[in-house]
Amino acid sequence: MQTRRSSRLGFQPPAVGEEEVAAVADALRSGWLTTGPRAALLEERMAAYLEAKHVLAVASGTAALHLSLLALGVGPGDEVITSPITWPATANVIEHCGATPVFCDVRPGDLNIDPALVPGLLSERTKAIMPVHLAGQPADLDPLLALGLPVVEDAAHAAESAYRGRKIGSISDAACFSLYATKNIAAGEGGLVATDRDDVAQAIRDMRLTRRGDGARYDQVSAGFKANLPDVLAAIALVQLDRVEEHARIRARQFALYDEGLAGLAGIEPLERDPRDTHALHLYIVRIDPAAAGACRDDYQRALDVELIGTSIHFLPVHRLTWFRGRYPSQPPLPVAERAGDEVLSLPLSPAHSEADILDAVDAIRRVHARFTA
Ligand SMILES: *Cc1c(COP(=O)(O)O)cnc(C)c1O
Repeated sequence: MQTRRSSRLGFQPPAVGEEEVAAVADALRSGWLTTGPRAALLEERMAAYLEAKHVLAVASGTAALHLSLLALGVGPGDEVITSPITWPATANVIEHCGATPVFCDVRPGDLNIDPALVPGLLSERTKAIMPVHLAGQPADLDPLLALGLPVVEDAAHAAESAYRGRKIGSISDAACFSLYATKNIAAGEGGLVATDRDDVAQAIRDMRLTRRGDGARYDQVSAGFKANLPDVLAAIALVQLDRVEEHARIRARQFALYDEGLAGLAGIEPLERDPRDTHALHLYIVRIDPAAAGACRDDYQRALDVELIGTSIHFLPVHRLTWFRGRYPSQPPLPVAERAGDEVLSLPLSPAHSEADILDAVDAIRRVHARFTA
């Protein structure tokens, strides 16, 4: 009964081409395999792009979050308020600092941290707040900043985002970006911290490599990590940065095709996007309400898999994962996040996909929906 794709549509394949290949070859021929001039150039160009005073290149988005918390002095006995709808790394780095993650429920529309609930979670031990800009929609930062505590943004999805006209990267104590293979600026692995604070920038510089290295003789001013970004990866990120607007235009078209193609399907709704903000269009996430859509998210995901349409889930609530459940057995329920964790589904989205690919995904969803609601 259905016309099926002859090949699988990947969920989020990287959009890399010959220019990235050439940039890696150049980096290898230059003799600099590790952190060098390309990483420095990436920091300079990202600082201009993000409108930040400093950008520090590091090994991963996870390292960017971890070093930012340490730079702000988060340590044993402290609490950090964060969102449960995120990649577990956001909460893991709080643990790695010896601190305690305090999960705050999210808003039903965009699944970002609900600023109205944060004041009720503050304690004398609260040291920082870590909002996540899910899918590229900025969290509501002003009420968080108004609390007067350091804010560390998980901006892994938010390379192109702006909050009320201000670039993400130019606003808080530290905004942490990821260069992971699926992200909008993809180097395979890597991360960036954007900050206007000289002390935060210096602390991260001191920690990301086990040395403070200006002269022939090295010194160490803190227990350092190995969290620097190699030039081979920075070379890829530099080409991706050249393409950031071209890629964003392609994803914007894909968003429009989904908005149009899925409109009116009962029980399938995209997350809200705030027109006052610039959305980075990193993920196209729909919520599937089983009461109206005739089946649950997992059934839809399986049916789409049979149709050769790759999908993903962003995210399962972190506080419900086995390790966090065991560690915090008296965690109160977070009803909005827990329901969302059962309903969210991320659809194929990538500058590597054609419009026909996205229309195939739309057709497949409509077919599956018709079957489940028949
Ligand atoms: C990808 C991601 C991270 C981690 O970034 P890595 O570069 O993979 O370490 C953190 N938070 C969110 C929301 C992410 O999507």
